[in-house]
Amino acid sequence: MFANVLIANRGEIACRIIRTARRLMMRTIAIHTPADRGALFTRLADEVHEIGDGANGYLDGEAIVALARKAGAECLHPGYGFLSENAEFAEACARAGVVFVGPPPGAMRAMGLKNSAKALMQKAGVPVVPGYHGDNQNPKFLREKAYEIGYPVLVKAIAGGGGRGMRRVDAHMEFDGQLESAIREAQAAFGDGRVLIEKYIVSPRHIELQVFADTHGNCVHLFERDCSLQRRHQKVVEECPAPGLPHETRMSMATAATGAALAAGYVGAGTVEFIVDASRGLGPGDFYFLEMNTRLQVEHPVTEAVTGLDLVEWQFRVAAGERLPLNQDEIVCEGSAIEARVYAEDPEHNFLPSPGRILAMSLSGEEGLKGVRVDTGFAAGDTVTPFYDAMIAKLIVHAPTRADALKALNKELDDAVVIGPKTNLAFLRALMRSPEVVAGSFDTGFIDAHLARLGAVPQAPDARAVL
Ligand code: ADP
Ligand code: ADP
Ligand code: MG
Repeated sequence: MFANVLIANRGEIACRIIRTARRLMMRTIAIHTPADRGALFTRLADEVHEIGDGANGYLDGEAIVALARKAGAECLHPGYGFLSENAEFAEACARAGVVFVGPPPGAMRAMGLKNSAKALMQKAGVPVVPGYHGDNQNPKFLREKAYEIGYPVLVKAIAGGGGRGMRRVDAHMEFDGQLESAIREAQAAFGDGRVLIEKYIVSPRHIELQVFADTHGNCVHLFERDCSLQRRHQKVVEECPAPGLPHETRMSMATAATGAALAAGYVGAGTVEFIVDASRGLGPGDFYFLEMNTRLQVEHPVTEAVTGLDLVEWQFRVAAGERLPLNQDEIVCEGSAIEARVYAEDPEHNFLPSPGRILAMSLSGEEGLKGVRVDTGFAAGDTVTPFYDAMIAKLIVHAPTRADALKALNKELDDAVVIGPKTNLAFLRALMRSPEVVAGSFDTGFIDAHLARLGAVPQAPDARAVL
């Protein structure tokens, strides 16, 4: 195992990595921007280095690699976001003699763009969403393709992520305008305006498979996560097992997912995302490959809860050249786990980020309660800055059944206190009590279609607050 690790990230995921690294007796080296001075993860790390000016240091690969060398880091964990899926960065780490805790650059490249990933998956026999993912970007040609595929279609940036650069088109007449706007957004966000066209699945469930591979040719799956509760294509709540997913479909998806990883020459933790057509009943023929995320996911604690495993530990072990700690038949999924993301944002005003100082915070009222986990990058007194993601915490519950897990999550949400920034807590409380969520009968459009019922609309001031 490594003697130390440099964590090229911030916030809750930096805190999360520090926890495991420390348990494995590794010295933790944090880097932080001036904007993150004094942040919780910098207080937890054994060693800290400031990087860059302002807020952009986490994207400065050159400076980070130089710092890793100077600090004598044996390995580097990129977390999620920032440079975690950047193949050039992984290569620069290798050149500097620092082990990148992640997949080989070749696998990152193979999965990096949605069009080439889809082509690779098709070749490996993994079902992909019907559509056009070729090189021709002529707008007229793409419009013809959309017509052939049949509306509604989705125009999707091949370099996309976080739901950006995506436009649904319902009618031929609207195609040109939506294409232009998708390209514009993709160009601005990813520096790459190329798109693909997909059949729009009308009642889609987002179900992803966690996979893990080592350098000895072993590859396993760690079951699924249902991430269908999304707002504007961004995940809000994730759970395992996926409600109503037939065992047969789960097994077909698992086989497709490990097949996908092997086809890409994958090593380490990865997530194969699928879209499942709920209007056709979640059968074994109703799922399609969406993309592969070549890193640890925000929602990995759900998988850790049901399997009892530490995925960050597995990442370190695989990066150190060890074999996967368990065989497939030794990995079991027990009970039901749900994660809800608490954000500093204002649901009553279009979920606008609400940065500011956290004056008081109490999450998980009963400290250390069995089956409850809180992952956060903040403590009371800390400030949510406007420079980064506005996520304050992830509340994760684990119980024998889904009904028990929902009950536990509702209690956590009810007891949660965050004073200072506006938060989505009231929205989450309403969401998790919706009959559709309780019944497990939602799809990815549920939240956006029911904003008013979930309280995410302008409202009169809280009378108690006014008083
Ligand atoms: P990103 O890289 O932005 O995560 P994805 O391809 O993973 O892009 O899609 C993000 C989300 O968009 C999915 O979880 C799903 O809700 C929706 N989506 C993607 N493709 C389709 C499709 N063909 N039909 C309907 N919804 C889709
Ligand atoms: P003061 O500085 O006069 O104590 P505060 O702004 O701290 O005033 O608010 C006083 C009380 O009002 C708080 O203890 C809290 O109970 C309530 N309160 C303030 N802001 C809110 C809010 N946004 N939502 C609900 N209650 C609030
Ligand atoms: Mg995705």
